[in-house]
Amino acid sequence: MARSVSRSLTLSEGLLAELHTEMRMCRRCLSAGFSVTPAAVFSGPVSAWFMIVGQAPGASEAETGRPFNGSSGQRLFGWLAQAGWDEGVFRGTQYVTAITKCYPGKSSSGKGDRAPTREEQALCAPFLKRELDLVQPRVVVPVGSLAVQRFLGQTRLSDVVGTVIDRPDDRCIVPLPHPSGVSLWLNRSENQERVRQALAHLQRLHPQLQA
Ligand code: SF4
Repeated sequence: MARSVSRSLTLSEGLLAELHTEMRMCRRCLSAGFSVTPAAVFSGPVSAWFMIVGQAPGASEAETGRPFNGSSGQRLFGWLAQAGWDEGVFRGTQYVTAITKCYPGKSSSGKGDRAPTREEQALCAPFLKRELDLVQPRVVVPVGSLAVQRFLGQTRLSDVVGTVIDRPDDRCIVPLPHPSGVSLWLNRSENQERVRQALAHLQRLHPQLQA
């Protein structure tokens, strides 16, 4: 039994490595005329229990190849520390990806990065589906409205942050707002309380804290 489990894990590891190579080589958005920086950013092993799904990488992430590397990442990992996670341990054992995997560039207003278009999201969607199928995370944490709506449909952050949505596939969704300073949503005290509740759920769902 242990041997067949480890064999299927090895198989999944191999398939995930193939997927990672495919994502790194992908130029679909460039071919479709979008000015992305073609360097897919993601990290994590097939054995991950948690999967964080952001909107898209920023310039710092594209430069380093490390998801949530910049100031947004500092705030996100600060939150996760409140849920019992050391950043290095989380990065080494859990999966981090995004709705679109390549840096979309600055927004035309100059305020923050450009949100990926619906067409770019559709071009990248098969990759996220394959990541979910291979990793089979027990807890998905969509970060920011765009990612939250991918998993939960049209909804407001205020209605879902602080809740746990159980799925029939034995997976649960714990939404978080985007940690970037661009969003004003976090300025409201009632929303800060919603984030605190979400972090308490993540702490409860931490695999090492369940024993
Ligand atoms: S964002 Fe996704 S679909 Fe577009 S080029 Fe990058 S990996 Fe390919």
